Amino acid sequence: MEKEIIVPEGKEERSLNFIEQIVEKDLAEGVNDGRIQTRFPPEPNGYLHIGHVKAICMDFGIAEKYNGVCNLRFDDTNPAKEDTEYVETIERDIAWLGFKWGQIYYASDYFQQLYDLAIRFIKAGKAYVDEQTAEQIAEQKGTPTEPGVASPYRDRPIEENLRLFETMQRGEIEEGKMVLRAKIDMANPNMHFRDPIMYRIITSHPHHRTGRTWNVYPMYDFAHGQSDYFEGVTHSICTLEFEVHRPLYDYFLDQITGENFCGMSPYGPDYRPKQREFNRLNVTYTVMSKRKMLQLVKEGLVAGWDDPRMPTVCGLRRRGYTPQAIRTFMDKIGYTKVEGMIDQGLLEHVIREDLKETAPRVCAIFDPVKLVITNYEGAGETIIAENIDGHEELGTREMKFGKELWIERGDFLEEVDNKFYRLSPGGREVRLKASYIIQATGCEKDANGNITTVYATYDPNSKSGTEGGNRKTKATINGVECNSALEAEVRLYDRLFAVENPSAEEGDFRDLLNPDSLKVVAAKVEGSLRSELHAPIVKDGIEQENHYQLLKQGYFVVDPDTTADKLVLNRTCSLKDNYLK
Ligand code: ATP
Ligand code: MG
Repeated sequence: MEKEIIVPEGKEERSLNFIEQIVEKDLAEGVNDGRIQTRFPPEPNGYLHIGHVKAICMDFGIAEKYNGVCNLRFDDTNPAKEDTEYVETIERDIAWLGFKWGQIYYASDYFQQLYDLAIRFIKAGKAYVDEQTAEQIAEQKGTPTEPGVASPYRDRPIEENLRLFETMQRGEIEEGKMVLRAKIDMANPNMHFRDPIMYRIITSHPHHRTGRTWNVYPMYDFAHGQSDYFEGVTHSICTLEFEVHRPLYDYFLDQITGENFCGMSPYGPDYRPKQREFNRLNVTYTVMSKRKMLQLVKEGLVAGWDDPRMPTVCGLRRRGYTPQAIRTFMDKIGYTKVEGMIDQGLLEHVIREDLKETAPRVCAIFDPVKLVITNYEGAGETIIAENIDGHEELGTREMKFGKELWIERGDFLEEVDNKFYRLSPGGREVRLKASYIIQATGCEKDANGNITTVYATYDPNSKSGTEGGNRKTKATINGVECNSALEAEVRLYDRLFAVENPSAEEGDFRDLLNPDSLKVVAAKVEGSLRSELHAPIVKDGIEQENHYQLLKQGYFVVDPDTTADKLVLNRTCSLKDNYLK
């Protein structure tokens, strides 16, 4: 698959996408009385991923922009794979993204109407019960250039079809032994017209909403368009793989709308839903197939659906992505009719740009060594530091300075080196972030020669924010005062897969996982993060994530594993942006 190059630009107005153009034309022509109604139709058989969000932004976006409504419809026609757990997480994820649906519908709300419709099809001689196996039916389908072979059951009398279909529904026929097929055209160049299956038997699993009421379940093609019609959907927007299904979508609607109108929709005989398709989202270094994601979860290759490396909405949330950044990403990639692959670097670029403006900056030391200020005799002091340098309006926080601080091991070098601008005994002066200028005097080592303590003196007249604070140094280093420091478990996440397009490679996709996608470090962080150990902040019933820039380390978010005595931070992304390189 071709990789698309998307150049991130400023926030200038974008031009209308092709679906918006269609909607504006429909509005101008008064189609469907100028009503705009969309739906987002997830199957509750897994968690939402970033690909779904592309569809969500389209469906809800069109409704928001053109004063319409977008409903949520659970496409729950396969009880073998679906569950209430998924319904709940899908609702929660959409709410977190900030979208508001009108109604919540379920395809299962229409099981009776769809069944009645199927009976009408049978009575009109437009459907028949086939007793062949799935394999036999597939073999008879033909190819796009060769016509298919008619089933021996194709011309069965209407009465017999009716009786058999009712027997199927009563649960008297074994799964897989019979299906109801539309009688259309076994030679049609569009394979979807070669007597598509309308209904199949599922008796092995109860339905998560209708229990054991039904033993026959409608197939996607027979359920989707009709559900749209029952609800009054005007623009039924989906992904490109459904383009070849569109004639069938229209065919089924032709049978029940217009002249054959049978009162199954709240709108008049001129009302008609239309299907439109856009390109799917594919992102590098990840997989989005529900089957593969489920496998990663079940086999413990990730910590769950919300593992911060997963492309799921709950995973992105836990990784520290914001709804705004995800929506900006969708705006940048846009909607077309051409399938492509989006660089994960764009996603990282967008969240970095978002957090740059908002995330408070704090000190954290990942590889700590103790620094002792030999000429400081106080009991410690408070330093007021701006959350984001130069942005007083974004607030300040209290940092500490004292006799002992944690610094990065790499910020000290025992031998003076002219190219090393940080601490060396007798070397340069260095500023401690937001506080004083210090100068190293020496160090202490353990029996193995590892440095255990660094010694330095400080200049009491050099405090940042005072007159002496203007004195420049070649380098600034981070320090975290020991008495107030907080221990944090920091999870350094990287891309889940080691290759760009794991789905395109031969062999087992699990062999392509990035072995370094998670590293855990025990860090010392500023005591100002202590407030994170309290209960999370809830706004509009939704728990809010707290984001930070750990200076020199990257952007981080507070993980829900955080407890009253343990802070856990996840790396969202590094500071460096390679996207445009
Ligand atoms: P399944 O393989 O189980 O059908 P699905 O990914 O199609 O999975 P659905 O729950 O049926 O999942 O999808 C709901 C909606 O999200 C559909 O309209 C579908 O077109 C859209 N969608 C799914 N994946 C993507 C994607 N990668 N990019 C854009 N839209 C997507
Ligand atoms: Mg689907």
